This record gives sequence, structure tokens and C-alpha cells, in this order.
Amino acid sequence: MSQTAGDVASLYSLSSCIGCGKCDSVCPSGRNGGVYPYDIISAILDGDPSTVTSDLQIDAWKCLMCHRCAMACPRDLDITGAIRSLRYDSVSSGEMPKRFRTASAALAAEGRAFPVNDIVNQRRQDLGLDKIPDGGQSVNELKIIISRTGFRNE
Ligand code: SF4
Ligand code: SF4
Repeated sequence: MSQTAGDVASLYSLSSCIGCGKCDSVCPSGRNGGVYPYDIISAILDGDPSTVTSDLQIDAWKCLMCHRCAMACPRDLDITGAIRSLRYDSVSSGEMPKRFRTASAALAAEGRAFPVNDIVNQRRQDLGLDKIPDGGQSVNELKIIISRTGFRNE
């Protein structure tokens, strides 16, 4: 069952936020047109506690997972953890943005988030770089790990 906004608020103690804005002041995502952490926290605390909106789930994917907000927070709130938990839910509910879905499918299939094709190798050759080597055993191990997580890219 998906978590609710109330679950996220409770699990990450978000009600202890004092609204100081320090998280927003260090956030590279918000500064570049993405999402500010305090907007997410406010949406969780001020919205319907019995659900998580799809807007909130989509906003969670605009975060860069850099943890700067958490490091700046005087209340030691794991803001990034709360945002990550919203992402988990969005995967379950099919709200994961397409570009992340594509990258995760490539990771599960090839061990790389971005497929290496002839065009990539040609560009590397033009730059005097070697072809990217096959991932070999490490890719097989990664596939096993991904399959054990229960990840489904659908
Ligand atoms: S972890 Fe996300 S919300 Fe926090 S500062 Fe980085 S980009 Fe912003
Ligand atoms: S830095 Fe912490 S206490 Fe301040 S607004 Fe952000 S989450 Fe709330």
C-alpha cells in the first residue's frame, strides 16, 4: 500500500520544521527552475494527509539528491530521505517521469543508465578515445542486484 503524506511527515518528523528557509537557500534545483525543498515540505504538511498528490510525486523527481538541504537544516531533518520516499511511491503508482524510466530500463538491461551505441563510440573515436568496454561480470552482478530489489520498470 502506498504511503500517505501523513506517513511521510511522521516518518521524517517534518512537523518539527521551523520554516527558516535555510534548505531553500542552498538548493541548486530550485535555483535552476526545479523544486525547492521547503515547497515540498509545505505541500506535505499543508495538503491532505491521507494521500500524496501526483504533482508532489513528480516534483520529487526534480530534486538532485545532493543532500545540501539536509546539511543546512538546523532541525537535522532528512529532507532528501523524505523526497526519496516520494519517488519510491511514484514508481509504484506509475508516475515516474519517462526520462527516468528510460534510464532505469537501460540500467537494468545493460548496467548503464545511458546505452552505449555506435554513435557514442564513433564520437569517442573522433575524440581519440577508446571504445567503452563491455561491463562484463559487473553488469551481470548489477542485474542480479536490481532483480532482487523487486524493481519493475512498467
Ligand atoms: S537534495 Fe534536492 S531538495 Fe535538497 S538541496 Fe539538493 S536538490 Fe534541493
Ligand atoms: S532548513 Fe529545516 S527547519 Fe528550515 S525550513 Fe528547511 S526543513 Fe524547515
